Amino acid sequence: MAEHESLEFGKADFVLLDNVSLEEFMANLKLRFEKGRIYTYIGEVVVSVNPYRAMNIYGRDTIEQYKGRELYERPPHLFAIADAAYKAMKRRNKDTCIVISGESGAGKTEASKYIMQYIAAITNPSQRAEVERVKNMLLKSNCVLEAFGNAKTNRNDNSSRFGKYMDINFDFKGDPIGGHINNYLLEKSRVIFQQEGERSFHSFYQVSEGLTAGADIKKLFLFCQPFQTPDKSYQTCSSINDSADLKAVTDAMKVIGFTTEEIQTVYKILATILHLGNLKFGSDGDVTLIENSKLVSILGDLLSTKDENVEKALLYRTVATGRDVIDKQHTHQEASYGRDALAKAIYERLFCWIVGRINDIIEVKNYDVRVHGKNTVIGVLDIYGFEIFQNNSFEQFCINYCNEKLQQLFIQLVLKQEQEEYQREGIPWKHIDYFNNQIIVDLVEQQHKGIFAVLDEACMNVGKVTDEMFLQALNGKLAKHAHYTSRKLSPTDKNLEFDRDFRIRHYAGDVAYSVVGFIDKNKDTLFQDFKRLLYNSSNPVLKAMWPEGKLSITEVTKRPLTAATLFKNSMISLVENLASKEPYYVRCIKPNEVKSPLLFEHERCKHQVEYLGLLENVRVRRAGFANRQIYPRFLQRYKMISEFTWPNHDLPSDKEAVKRLLQGCGFEHDVAYGKTKVFIRTPRTIFSLEEQRAEMV
Ligand code: ADP
Ligand code: MG
Repeated sequence: MAEHESLEFGKADFVLLDNVSLEEFMANLKLRFEKGRIYTYIGEVVVSVNPYRAMNIYGRDTIEQYKGRELYERPPHLFAIADAAYKAMKRRNKDTCIVISGESGAGKTEASKYIMQYIAAITNPSQRAEVERVKNMLLKSNCVLEAFGNAKTNRNDNSSRFGKYMDINFDFKGDPIGGHINNYLLEKSRVIFQQEGERSFHSFYQVSEGLTAGADIKKLFLFCQPFQTPDKSYQTCSSINDSADLKAVTDAMKVIGFTTEEIQTVYKILATILHLGNLKFGSDGDVTLIENSKLVSILGDLLSTKDENVEKALLYRTVATGRDVIDKQHTHQEASYGRDALAKAIYERLFCWIVGRINDIIEVKNYDVRVHGKNTVIGVLDIYGFEIFQNNSFEQFCINYCNEKLQQLFIQLVLKQEQEEYQREGIPWKHIDYFNNQIIVDLVEQQHKGIFAVLDEACMNVGKVTDEMFLQALNGKLAKHAHYTSRKLSPTDKNLEFDRDFRIRHYAGDVAYSVVGFIDKNKDTLFQDFKRLLYNSSNPVLKAMWPEGKLSITEVTKRPLTAATLFKNSMISLVENLASKEPYYVRCIKPNEVKSPLLFEHERCKHQVEYLGLLENVRVRRAGFANRQIYPRFLQRYKMISEFTWPNHDLPSDKEAVKRLLQGCGFEHDVAYGKTKVFIRTPRTIFSLEEQRAEMV
């Protein structure tokens, strides 16, 4: 429980609510938001409401106030959670992780950055140069990843379009010595298409705005604009300064250790994609042509390859028929499809390559456990939140599945952790019921029967399988599932299009998914010819990004894993990884849709509180004990209220002294004594102790 703040700001911990009801929870959340108290605890979970304004609570002085303190000693803050994770790591040699969840725009990425800044600020007191260098690189990596992985959406001007999990490694002194980033499913379809009012990834605007006119590299960008539908104008965004950002990103890349050649290649790849967006196909009789053929030679330059190779890869596909290898000309439609697939694929590959390069550089090197002691880790997970759009497609399906997995983990860990603590301390435990979303996780990922399995099966078929056929297969297999439907729920139900949509009742709400594009996005085909084209580039950086282009047509036999399978596997290993660490949670809430610092939209917030399971979280926390403290700490805080313990006690142990103190106050019916901690069931007891303490000091 947090420091006894004035009640004018509401309760600093939801476990202190008089009644655990949604109404009281909401009233407290709202009051605190309005009073500028954006953080509130549920035990050790931080609930955060996006303030949508600059808060003066992240400076050096605030950091000092949280450093080394216990959670409940200061008002709720991200820093307290970061400190708790850090202490567990340092004192108890535990690998820990901080899981940040919430919907798009709720404040996850900002929270992850504050957490990293805090950790950077409190470590390396001796100012070792090598550690400072590592810290700087870790912080700078954010800037680079945001440039390439974030975009303006209708929900968030700086929306992360990829999932990110970052490990920070520490040496025995507790100083950062390296890190590792895992990235998940970049929303690459954004490269070729953006919804009304949205932009492509920041990087494109940064290079087109920011490269100075005189620079050689600028020439690459003449006349090109991000892929966009013709009726839309070039999107600038008032909260974003693209050219200043370009400088920051380029500087960050230099600091991290990207070579000049690498940075130039990155620009060239961005330019390639922009030019591809302008590429048009036409036809002359049966022959498909490139209309603006000047672009072909620009692309040849950018990709450091022969123009004719570019042209051929865009217009033909090499196919093996028996022992013969022939060049088959694309139809107009195939050529356009190929161009779009190429643009998406090079961007995705570029992004993964950037992450890989950062990892090469920040990875812990020369660490010998025998010499330096255990290398421990704090992981920070900032991953896309639950999404419901007007039109939900394969990407939303994956993202929402990811959130189901994380919710499942939350359920297991919150319960597991409580249970384990009671067990460890020798205290009996009473079970609390939850909605367990495992059934939805299974609906998606189960072998043979799950939606991913049905999708993969459809994609395996040699004949032409349409999205509609996939939907029929789903309906055939899953019609009876309690969380699946393809029926209209009522005649007026406009959200569901029969023959095109299926609906899932997620833990966070109902979502109708359009199957259009599922097959294609899952197969994620890039013609082998493009891979060979890029592999055969004389630019070594580009070549290195496309190792599979080495294979000739007759050597390519293995079907690559589908997007769904890759994603599923990456989620399973992410969850395994998180489960192996001691978790800390930040649950972010978005107060309104209009980015306003003043507006607390009750229904929106209530919905988030419900689906995040926050109320159940409070109940579990309270069903057990609202508060627990190790004996010496408890004594330190309350010894002045008892004659037995003030100023010192002569009892055989701190545990005995705490017992004596609590008996003296008449609270022993409300507490349990564990091996190392005293557990206090109701918050009132704590209040009362706090009041008595306040009278004494
Ligand atoms: P998410 O990652 O959950 O989609 P972000 O972290 O990008 O959301 O936050 C969206 C926007 O909300 C930020 O760009 C910023 O303007 C605002 N914001 C979020 N958290 C804070 C905060 N702690 N203080 C001030 N503004 C914030
Ligand atoms: Mg984000």
